[in-house]
This record gives sequence, C-alpha cells and structure tokens, in this order.
Amino acid sequence: MTRSETGAGTADGITLRELQAIPVVRLKGVGDKKQAALREVGVETVLDLLTTYPRRWVDRTNEARVSDLVPGKEALVLVTVRTVTKRTMRNRRTMVEAQVGDGSGRLHVVFFNQPWRERQLREGVQIMLFGKADDYRGGLQMTNPIVDLIGDRTGRIVPIYPQSEKAQLTTWEIAGWVENALERCAARGFADPVPLGIRRELGLVDRSTAMRQIHLPETMGEKERARRRLAFDELLRVQTVLVMRKRAFEREQRGIRHDMSGELVRRFHSALSYELTRAQSRAIAEIEADLAGPHPMHRLLQGDVGAGKTVVAVSALLCAVQGGHQGALMAPTEVLAEQHASGIRALLGGLRVPAPDNLFGERQLSVALLTNRITGQERRDVIAGFADGTIDIAIGTHALIQEGIEFHSLGAVVVDEQHRFGVEQRAALRMKGAGPEDQRVVPDVLVMTATPIPRTAAMTVYGDLDVSVLDELPPGRTPISTHWANGPLMELAAWGDVREAVGAGRQAYVVCPLIEESEKLEVASAQEMYERLVNQDLKGLRIGLLHGRLPSADKEAAMNAFRLRHLDVLVATTVIEVGVDVANATVMVIVDADRFGIAQLHQLRGRVGRGEHASKCWLITAEVEGPSPRVEALVATTDGFELAEIDLDLRGEGTLMNTAQKGRSDLKLASLRRDRELVGLARQAAFDIVDPDPMLSENPLLLDEVRLLLSAEDEEFLFKS
Ligand code: ADP
Ligand code: MG
Repeated sequence: MTRSETGAGTADGITLRELQAIPVVRLKGVGDKKQAALREVGVETVLDLLTTYPRRWVDRTNEARVSDLVPGKEALVLVTVRTVTKRTMRNRRTMVEAQVGDGSGRLHVVFFNQPWRERQLREGVQIMLFGKADDYRGGLQMTNPIVDLIGDRTGRIVPIYPQSEKAQLTTWEIAGWVENALERCAARGFADPVPLGIRRELGLVDRSTAMRQIHLPETMGEKERARRRLAFDELLRVQTVLVMRKRAFEREQRGIRHDMSGELVRRFHSALSYELTRAQSRAIAEIEADLAGPHPMHRLLQGDVGAGKTVVAVSALLCAVQGGHQGALMAPTEVLAEQHASGIRALLGGLRVPAPDNLFGERQLSVALLTNRITGQERRDVIAGFADGTIDIAIGTHALIQEGIEFHSLGAVVVDEQHRFGVEQRAALRMKGAGPEDQRVVPDVLVMTATPIPRTAAMTVYGDLDVSVLDELPPGRTPISTHWANGPLMELAAWGDVREAVGAGRQAYVVCPLIEESEKLEVASAQEMYERLVNQDLKGLRIGLLHGRLPSADKEAAMNAFRLRHLDVLVATTVIEVGVDVANATVMVIVDADRFGIAQLHQLRGRVGRGEHASKCWLITAEVEGPSPRVEALVATTDGFELAEIDLDLRGEGTLMNTAQKGRSDLKLASLRRDRELVGLARQAAFDIVDPDPMLSENPLLLDEVRLLLSAEDEEFLFKS
C-alpha cells in the first residue's frame, strides 16, 4: 500500500498547482524545439502534459490480426509497414499506398490526399490501423484508416497519445516525457483532494495510483479504474462550483415568501377545460413550494413540445399575483412574445384579482405586452402600469429588462426558451426585483425549455438550478407517425399525403433545407421549393411562403393566413421552429432532413400532432443506401428525452458543452455520455462536501483545484464576494 492509499501523505503530496508551475523544458528530452512544438498543442506545463491522456490503449496481446478482418466491418489491427509508394493522379490528387501485414496476412492500405503519409509510414514501423476493410483484387484493402504509430515501444499495453503531424510530436515522445514526469513525482506522490470516506464509499483509487495507471497501466482493468477516478475528479470540480453557487444563492439572496393562501391559482385551474396531467400538478407543486420558501426560486422546467408548459408557467405567475406581486414572462422573439400574450390572455380571460381600494374590492386581472413594436403612448401606458402595479402580468421580449423599466413589485419571472437568453440578461431581470437597492428582494425565476436535455447533462449545464420535468403528454394526443422518404420516388408519397390531408380539411407545413452557411441561399432554395410545389407537386393548393428575410409584416400576414385557414400549405424555413401553434395542421414535410440535427427535427415535428387528428411527418432525404442514425431515431420514437439521449450518444457532449458552457472545458476524460452514473455520484459527493463546509475551508486542496482549473467566470463568482 502506498502512503496515500492509507489517507496519510495527502498533505505533502504534490499538488496540481505545483505541477502547473513547472514548465515542460524541465523534463528530460524537452529542449527549445520540442517546447515550442508542445506549446502549439497547448502543453506548456507538467500539469498540461500529465493531463494529456492517452486517447487509446493498445493491448498488444489482444488485437485483431489481419486474418481476423471481415470485409465491410470496422476493426483495429496491429501491423508492420512493408512498402510505401506515392503517386500523383491526373486531378493532382495524391495517393499513398502501403503494403502492411502481420504474421497472419497482408493488407493493402490507401490514403487519398494525405501526401505526408509517405514520410510517416517508413518500412519496418509498427502501426495500429482502425478502419473498414474491403475486398480488393483478391485481397483486403483499407482506405483512409486512422493510423497510430507504435514505434519501437515494448510493454503489453501501449498508450497512444494524441499526436500532431503538424507540430511534429510523436506518441512515443509524449509517452517518454510523461514517464519522466511520473518518475519525478513518485517520491512525494500526488496530493489527493477527495476525502478518504468518499473514495472508500465510491471505490475510487487514490490519485497517485490513478495518475500512474492512466499512463502506464499493466492491465486494461487498471486503466479503467484510473480513468474512473480521474473522470470523477473532473466532474467533482464542476459539481463543487455548481453546488457552491446554488447554496450561495440560497444563503445570500433574499426572496419573497409568496402567500399561497389565495384563490387565484385554484380558480384558474378549475376554469381550465381539462384536468392537469400528473406531471403538470407535480411541477406546479414543486414551484409552489419554492415560492413559499424564503429563498428565490431558480428552477428549470423541462418539457417536450406540447407537454403543456404554458399552464405551469402561468400558475407560477399567478402565485405571485395572488400574493400582491407581479409576474413577468420573457420570450426570445417578438413573434413568440405576441403568441404568448394572446394565448395567456385567452387562458386568463375573466379572472379577477382582489383590489382593496376599488369599490367592488375586485378588478379584472391585467396582462400587458411589451416589445419594441409597441411604441408611443401605448408604450408609455404599459411602462407606467408596470411601475404602479396596475398591470399584473407582463409579457415581452428582452425589452422587459431594458433601462428605465421599473416594476411595482416583481415577484416571479418565467424565461421561455432559455438557450437564447444570456446569463447577464437573467441577472438583469433579477435586478428588477422590489425594494430599495440595498435590501432588494430577488424575484423567483423559472426557466422553461422545450429542448429536452438528458438528466446528466442537465445536472451539469444547469447544475445550479433545480429541475422539474414534464415527462407526460396531455391525454388524447394522437401520436405522430414519422416516415422516411428515400429520394425522389418516395417523395411523391409525401406530396400525396399533403393532398389527402388538405382534401380532408387539414393543413400542412413544408420545411425547406437548412443552409447554415448562408441565409441568402436558404431563402433562394425556399423560393425554389415554393415555385416547384405551386407549379408541380402541389399544383392547385393554396400555398404560402415564409422565410427569415421577409419584412415582419409579411411574415405575420403569412402566419395569420395559415392560422385562418386561408392557406393549405405553408412552405417555410426554420423560422417556424418555435412556437407556431396551428392545431389543424397535420402533415409536416421536412426536405433534406439530413441537414438538421435531432433536436431541431424533433422541434419541427412538434408543430403537428397538436390537435385531435392523426398527424404525419415525412423526412425527405436524397436517395441513399440506408437512413442516417438521426432519421432512424426520429422514425423510431417521438419521445424527446429518448431522442436527447440518442443525440448525446451520436454527437458526444461537445456541442452541448461548448455552447451552453464555455467555462466548463475541464472535462478531458469524463464524458457526460459515457459517465452518466459518475455525474450523479460526483454531484452527490459535492453536496456531501459543501454542505458541512460551505467555503471549503476544511477542503483546501479541492478549493485550490477548483480555482486552478475552472473558468474565470466561475472563479469570479465564487471568490469575488
Ligand atoms: P408546450 O409549451 O409545453 O409546448 P403548451 O403549453 O403550448 O405546450 O400546450 C400544448 C397544448 O396542450 C395546448 O393547446 C394546451 O391547451 C394543451 N394542454 C395543456 N395541458 C393540457 C392538459 N393537462 N390536458 C389537455 N390539454 C392540455
Ligand atoms: Mg410553448
């Protein structure tokens, strides 16, 4: 047993901060040239180097041999290079060919447009190849496989590091420096920030063991245990910050204890033409408990398209109103704000609120819209109503949080479609809370999102929020059946369905290809599709066109015409993605569906299936051999959460983390996809550590690592105050 395994020795072990202070030139074999090369791949210190983890581990005794390769299947083989030749073809493309083999057989490998492979693949060099082998002239061939150079390293398990052709770094150079660094750390061992009790409970190896075995494992089992421990560390740092932030909000922000005894919410619910779903009731109860408490609510409401978030949001706003405060709902676009305003006005029609200074002791509940389109006297009136409290519910865009807008007593805020709102905007909204500056109470905040997020990802991306989930659709929905149209012939079936639906009095959407590079191209292709449908496939139907470059009056006219059933078919770009609600529309045709992501396809599909009639969604692609995994997923399920999990599997967390979460880029080993269980364990561990020790004074090592490795934004929050 090493010292750190006993729990002692953590105090004098080497810390990540110390490693961060040692430049790589201090290592054997790193001179000026290699230092520059390492800098190019972002490695400047020994810490950077030691956290440059192998991207693969090759078990030499257990690799597939050439004779095991099956044509058409992807596989990994360990081979030796026999010959290499380079050719330039007529179109000036290059082709590098290599003959490789092991004791069991030979393989022909070709690389197109990778001229440098000629220099890389010298005769006699051992390499790992990963790719699909195909039959070729009586033998086997791999085209553009992934190549890892093994060099002349020995040992049963060979770590393969990310290598850089450009920076001229090989995996065995990196391995050598890592080994040198580990040797030098061996005497002191690594300081371990995770309390022994938690390590025991979760069966985690100590950090010294983990650091060594991630780089130099003797068995794959050792490597796995090391990976689990180091991935846990990464997740623990993230969760520690989130949990500290959550607890700090609860500790420091003064909220409103909303009075839940009023009648308003109950009257609202009993006036609805339907029963709340169990999921809606549960979410409302969770929100009410938050609102009644002394701390401001920070809650995320997740629910698939059509799950019925509006009623939940309105209930939250009414809770504030019945206690004598105001509610506000912020939407990301003017169109959405307007839709919410008319929808919510319809929902609340006839509700009355107590008005003590009024002759009748009661008045009509008042809802007002504020966007940048509302100007002049109307705007002044609305703003005055916010300030004097005669407006109970404010609905709008970010116009609501502009300078000069004051509320009489803002009690609850709902933010719709959060991914389009910045953190600062949320903060600004909180500043609109009631009371003089020094003792301002913070309004309760409910963030609504229709983009389902896998649970583990939600714990990370929204880890400082509580989460309510609407995981149940209101009853009576007829499920949407989804079909794939593979190429022009099958496309005819889609247009046939559109005609049939229109014949039965229904309506249809046609969504044109997403062209991310250019809105101009996107508009042009929508225009083209529109003309094609008008003149050919859907000739005779009443067809409208909606795209992002139309003046907003025209957009509105097109939407209204569709809503009023003056149009049978609406041809649109993705501008219809959010919020459009026409229950009579039952067919959705998505052209070039492969250009969209899973989440977006799901959002688009959610525009149909909103009424009593059975709905259909067609996904049109160019003719291909098999469906893409995304199309396949959409055809297989309409469950947004299931799709979100598949999406995470397909894309990895890259996109999610990069957009939502720039600061949390410390995840090098941990994967929100692979390590779902570990995310939950790390979150629980963070609560166990932070709750008895809110400022981490008993856990200085962890505190220091969080400071060292998390973003400036997180750090600013944690340590400024
Ligand atoms: P979301 O915003 O979650 O996409 P909405 O709040 O717009 O969903 O609700 C979608 C539709 O479902 C609306 O037409 C609404 O009236 C209806 N709805 C909501 N809750 C229920 C319920 N419990 N039972 C029946 N219909 C409901
Ligand atoms: Mg909605």
